[in-house]
Amino acid sequence: AYNFNAGPAALPLEVLQKAQEELVDYQGIGMSVMEISHRSKEYEQLNEETQELLSELLNIPSGYKTLFLQGGASTQFAMIPLNFLNAGKVSNYIITGSWGKKALKESKLIGETFVSAQPEKFSHVPDISQLQLQNDSAYLHITSNETIEGIQYQQFPDTGSIPLIADMSSDILCRPIDVSQFAMIYAGAQKNLGPSGVTLVVVREDLLEDIPDHIPTMLRYDTHIKANSLYNTPPVYSVYIVNLVLKWIKEKGGLEQIEKINREKTKLIYDVIDESQGFYIGTVDKKDRSIMNIPFRLKDEHLEKQFLKQSEEDGFVGLKGHRSVGGMRASTYNAVPFESCKALSQFMVEFQKRNG
Ligand code: PLP
Repeated sequence: AYNFNAGPAALPLEVLQKAQEELVDYQGIGMSVMEISHRSKEYEQLNEETQELLSELLNIPSGYKTLFLQGGASTQFAMIPLNFLNAGKVSNYIITGSWGKKALKESKLIGETFVSAQPEKFSHVPDISQLQLQNDSAYLHITSNETIEGIQYQQFPDTGSIPLIADMSSDILCRPIDVSQFAMIYAGAQKNLGPSGVTLVVVREDLLEDIPDHIPTMLRYDTHIKANSLYNTPPVYSVYIVNLVLKWIKEKGGLEQIEKINREKTKLIYDVIDESQGFYIGTVDKKDRSIMNIPFRLKDEHLEKQFLKQSEEDGFVGLKGHRSVGGMRASTYNAVPFESCKALSQFMVEFQKRNG
């Protein structure tokens, strides 16, 4: 199948094959990785190696910790204000789409929260050069890639001494980033990292100094840092697959190479949209288009239904836009092969010829 699902999303075929090979016998120990103790030396090694691979691929500077947590990115929406929005401080959010709104909602439940910028229509990233943040800001939160609306930051705001926190659930590892610009990055795994069940957090250690005492143990970042992500039973199998995905990215040549491929893949589809003379309508300003999620519309809804039906018949999966926005969306995460994007672009051209 040509898998364009938004999440859980495609995994590299080579990773699935390797996992299949090792399913009942992990590295010659005579049982599955799912059956080993998380206190065993095998898991300790897997945990360490996966952290090291991430450090290497993302070029994480010293002073940051990598955590593998549970509860998805949605739990981070609450953990961030619980840990960092202390009394007397305010949190700031730039809202560029649906996931940012969900993050904002949680912060409002916990403390004083401001929307620093939000465009009227979710079609672009607002001008971040003129941001005014109060001195008592706990942090500024952004969503680096809005999965539903297909809006991706090309540059990140300079917040000076105010911590910048980014939800990178749908574009982590799609391109190189400068981690030192961020106080914290987090991502649910189920797009570019691996299967759902594990959530990645990369956090700068100095942020952890003022976590209020009343925050429950499991919801405190310092608990997981002290325990090296082993405070309770970790999602061993998900971490194992993340490890294989990271090795796959390394073999592909790292993030520069991954970005180059992602740009080539998405150009195929954006070009068809741009050259269709209005038959296909891109919903995002060109400068902020995502290389992970491509939302588009057709000029009438009847044609959209037909497009979805025929694309399904031709083996394309997951092209229906999110129920909140309608239309179509092609999610082109790292594991989606160039050939799938090529096939989709050809299908789009043919569909226009038949129906234009
Ligand atoms: N943030 C973004 C940008 C997402 O795309 C998603 C899920 O699609 C989430 C957060 C929620 O992630 P989770 O399902 O891991 O809680």
